[in-house]
Amino acid sequence: MSQILRFAIAFVLAFNLWGLAEYLLHRFAMHELHGRGIMSREHLEHHVGAGWDFSVMHLLSWAGMLLVGFAVWMPITWYFFGWETGLVVAIGWAAGYFFYEYQHAQAHLSAPRNRYGTWLRKHHFHHHFGHPMANHGVTIPWWDKVFGTLEVPEQVRVPRRMVQPWMADHNGELKAEFEADYVLVGSSDSNERLASLDRARAFASVAPSD
Ligand SMILES: [Zn+2]
Ligand SMILES: [Zn+2]
Repeated sequence: MSQILRFAIAFVLAFNLWGLAEYLLHRFAMHELHGRGIMSREHLEHHVGAGWDFSVMHLLSWAGMLLVGFAVWMPITWYFFGWETGLVVAIGWAAGYFFYEYQHAQAHLSAPRNRYGTWLRKHHFHHHFGHPMANHGVTIPWWDKVFGTLEVPEQVRVPRRMVQPWMADHNGELKAEFEADYVLVGSSDSNERLASLDRARAFASVAPSD
């Protein structure tokens, strides 16, 4: 096998290995643990607010995932296929991970620009607001399909207090172009009772109430 072909296969496999990890970590290490451990707690906090902000926790998880790529996957592949292939595997894993990080942040921060972006947002916001134990894959649907957790909503209900900045106009109403995919429900302001309910439901992996 030519060297280039071997590198290409190694990259694609490692990129997709991240896709499987994305599903398994999100489902089991984040949602199933209900806030036990830092990874689960941080993720369920993400469900409480349903927004995306840069924080130092991101640096920690970036470092952690790079470490997994370069200190776990690279030496294993190196042992069997040589150091060059090991390096490609570590890079492929990191590329898969940063693709996920970028797409997830963009889903919360900016409007879709193509069919993939439209699909990803609907798929992910159904996970947030419809059924947190469905759609654990963020960038790809097929592991949800394999494990029986894929849900394809007709329309996603979005509590007004959790509306994503790109969905609403300056009056807080849903922009017309998103009316087929989303519907806003409930009131836009939160109170103490609702805030603690949102927290409890997020940590139980239950959808937020209207
Ligand atoms: Zn999210
Ligand atoms: Zn989640």
